[in-house]
Amino acid sequence: MGSTSPVRTRIAPSPTGFLHLGTARTALYSWAYARHFGGEFVLRIEDTDVARSTQDSVSQILDSMRWLGLDYDEGPIYQMQRLARYHAVIEQMLAAGTAYRCYCTPEELDAMREAQRERGVKTHYDGRWRPAPGKPLPPVPAGVQPVVRFANPVDGIVSWDDLVKGSISISNHEIDDLILLRPAAEGSAASALGVPTYNFAVVVDDWDMAISHVFRGDEHINNTPWQINLFHALGAPLPRFGHCPIILGDDGQKLSKRRGAVSVTAYEQAGYLPEAMLNYLARLGWSHGDEELFSLAQMVDWFDGSHLAKSPAQWDPAKLAWVNAQHLKLADDDRLAVLVAAQLANRGVTVAADARLAAMCSLYKDRCNTTVELADWLGMYFVPVAAPADELAPLLTDAVRAALVALRDQLAGCDWDKAAIGQALKSCLAEHRLKMPQLAIPLRLLLCGRAQTPSVDAVLALFDRSTVLSRLQSL
Ligand code: GLU
Repeated sequence: MGSTSPVRTRIAPSPTGFLHLGTARTALYSWAYARHFGGEFVLRIEDTDVARSTQDSVSQILDSMRWLGLDYDEGPIYQMQRLARYHAVIEQMLAAGTAYRCYCTPEELDAMREAQRERGVKTHYDGRWRPAPGKPLPPVPAGVQPVVRFANPVDGIVSWDDLVKGSISISNHEIDDLILLRPAAEGSAASALGVPTYNFAVVVDDWDMAISHVFRGDEHINNTPWQINLFHALGAPLPRFGHCPIILGDDGQKLSKRRGAVSVTAYEQAGYLPEAMLNYLARLGWSHGDEELFSLAQMVDWFDGSHLAKSPAQWDPAKLAWVNAQHLKLADDDRLAVLVAAQLANRGVTVAADARLAAMCSLYKDRCNTTVELADWLGMYFVPVAAPADELAPLLTDAVRAALVALRDQLAGCDWDKAAIGQALKSCLAEHRLKMPQLAIPLRLLLCGRAQTPSVDAVLALFDRSTVLSRLQSL
């Protein structure tokens, strides 16, 4: 582990869709690793897939990083703004003989693969344009834009000690000459000199940005041998790699758009707290003893790259909801008030995120998984509720009705706080010889539209007096 070089990690999403949960998790690991070792964390946008990259997606990624609170020391760095650098490296490699131009047409490559399939061998580029001492190369065809290929070492073994998977080796016989640069598509804004492929740009960038540790999804394991060979060909120091297993959906299949994978920001809208998201994501592939609930600061303290899980974890919405509920209980009420006000605004209910809303959050947050559920509760303070008539009717006996009318009169004149309201309730109960539930349940149904709530004096005290009186008016 480059003990002399500082720790520098990065996350390098491609802006071809939203920041998905797997990438958010590797971003978290990369970030926490850098923070744990006092290093630096870089955000790089890998936008060389010009046809599929969008500005919308870049904004989504930046929003997600901001919401999660994964701050970066450098970036966002856009690959498409670094084309000149890739071209310069290509020139150096062509001159050094570690890369060469290949003029095969797509038809020729198809035919090559077809012939290999017929022979029952694994399809690969057969090296026909690869220069070798004494080897005649085909004549350069007219009108064909060449790609540039890497002259991958023909012999030897590529191995690395993966931070997650342990030791991995692959023979160079298994891998062919990777394309480093493709001609830019006709009419594309990209330089006429061509667009780098992922495997090439990622190596130049990780080298230039002095990345010491690369955490990424294990769908990239097959790319790593090429990348290692490229690092060697460039004389660049090798980062450590850690390939994290994919996240499975609750059906045991890979999380995908069709299988429950939604954007990170969708969880914000669904009322999750970023610290809960991070806590949950962290545990999907890493552990610290049997700690299930922790803060980001604790994670930074603990995350040293060990105890990363080798096998895939399963996305569990119920556990995420539980983790969120625990963080919700700990969350500051003024902060929750802002979040709930935003949730209510989504429903067209405009309320101030003031001390009263904060007090409401404090009273109800223990029974909620999300701020959406909190907003479900608090809506009754601001919009009319319908008392369920079928539940209410059998409870409204003459005695109860008389007590509620008496209570309404007392509430019209008493101090408007929990203690005074509690006192009014008690005296009505005593006077009308009723037990608390006989009064409290119809009272809740009338005021809140439901029979179960926190303690009724506390619930009432958070209403405007006028709302309470008007909801009791129909008695
Ligand atoms: N752009 C690649 C991706 O989004 C980055 C992979 C890597 O971290 O090297 O999968």
